[in-house]
Amino acid sequence: MEKLLQDNNLKITKIRIAILEELLKLNVSITAEELFEIISKLQNVNLSTIYRNLKILVENNLILKVTEINGETYYRYNKQEHIHHLICTNCHEVLPLEDCPIHDLEHKLELKTGYNIVSHSLEFRGLCPKCKEKTRLK
Ligand SMILES: [Zn+2]
Ligand SMILES: [Zn+2]
Repeated sequence: MEKLLQDNNLKITKIRIAILEELLKLNVSITAEELFEIISKLQNVNLSTIYRNLKILVENNLILKVTEINGETYYRYNKQEHIHHLICTNCHEVLPLEDCPIHDLEHKLELKTGYNIVSHSLEFRGLCPKCKEKTRLK
């Protein structure tokens, strides 16, 4: 994590390392409050410090921030690899997809528009099988 921060010209601090390590370990999206709960057990920190550092890490693309329809904001580690995800809107499980379904489309778009496309992002949202089962039983 030190190198990751260094490569992005960010000051290496205990709190930034803790945020990145915890998010990487969790592999699900969590709220700043949930992250605070975890990190405050490891070191002395307050919620506004968590928010301030999350903002910096999001700006530098080291973590991803998503605001759900319910207004809650969730954070997760940005693995930086070319990968798309399925995200459960209920339990926030993040399931990586094995392949990219839109490279062909990218190529077609380039031909059609003359753009040189350098990146794209795509996320699928829905209910995971476990949550689907739970709602069915209600
Ligand atoms: Zn779920
Ligand atoms: Zn792709």
